[in-house]
Order: sequence, then C-alpha cells, then structure tokens
Amino acid sequence: MPRSKRSELITLRVDLVKELKAKWIEEKKKSPFVNEHFGGFVNDLLHDILEKDEFLKHYAPFLSEDGCSRDTIYIKDFKENKTAEIYFNNGKLYCSLCESFSCFHIHFVMAIPKVAKLNPSTKPMIDDEVELDGQKAKKIVRKKRSS
Ligand SMILES: [Zn+2]
Repeated sequence: MPRSKRSELITLRVDLVKELKAKWIEEKKKSPFVNEHFGGFVNDLLHDILEKDEFLKHYAPFLSEDGCSRDTIYIKDFKENKTAEIYFNNGKLYCSLCESFSCFHIHFVMAIPKVAKLNPSTKPMIDDEVELDGQKAKKIVRKKRSS
C-alpha cells in the first residue's frame, strides 16, 4: 500500500484497535463531521488530546498532576503551594483542599485522562436507598410465598 511521506507507520495494540473502531462507529452515527477514514479518526483523536493538554497549560498554569494512587489523584497547586487530593466521596469527586465537590481542582481532574484511573467504588447514597427498597420488596415476596 503506498504511503504518503507525511505519515509514519505505527503499531497499535489489537485490543486498542477494537475499542477505537467501536468508538469510531459510534461517533460517526452521532456526527457527520467525524473523519470518514479510521486512520484519520485516530489522528484527530490524538490531536485533540494534545490540544487539550495545551488548553490546560493556559487555563490552569499553576496546577499540575502530582501522582495518583488507586483511589486518589494528587494535584499540585503552585498558587496555594499545597497539594489537593481528589477522590470519590459518596459517588462524587471530592477535593480535600477546598473541602468541596465543585472547585477548580476538580474541574482540572475532569480534564485529564488519569481521571479514568479512579475507582468509583464508593457508591452514592441513592444506591443504598435502592438496595434497601430491594430488600423490603424481597421480604414482601417471601412473606407472600410462605403464606
Ligand atoms: Zn479544590
């Protein structure tokens, strides 16, 4: 297959190509502006990531990633000279520095790919209520069955 001098051949993991193709097909259904060619779509996607990084550098030049654990992302705030810990609290992202569910640090975390590494295992309160209702319903069904 002839290749343009302006392109370079790279190897992508097979499982990643599968995921990317599924995303490409979904995105094409949603928007007519999505690239017609799979390779072009992947290039656009990567370019968007680079542009987003540039945007973040200008939007929040005083914030930077300072590592992460399984359930916490650390954001260094050079304005405050402190580190914000962002983690799930009742199913919502929480900032320990601002003691807030909606602050600049959380907006920053939402814009970095690492947010996907967080484990949202702390379920929101609503799930507990649904669980409780489910148990009540089970008890009613059991009573009806035994009588
Ligand atoms: Zn904060």
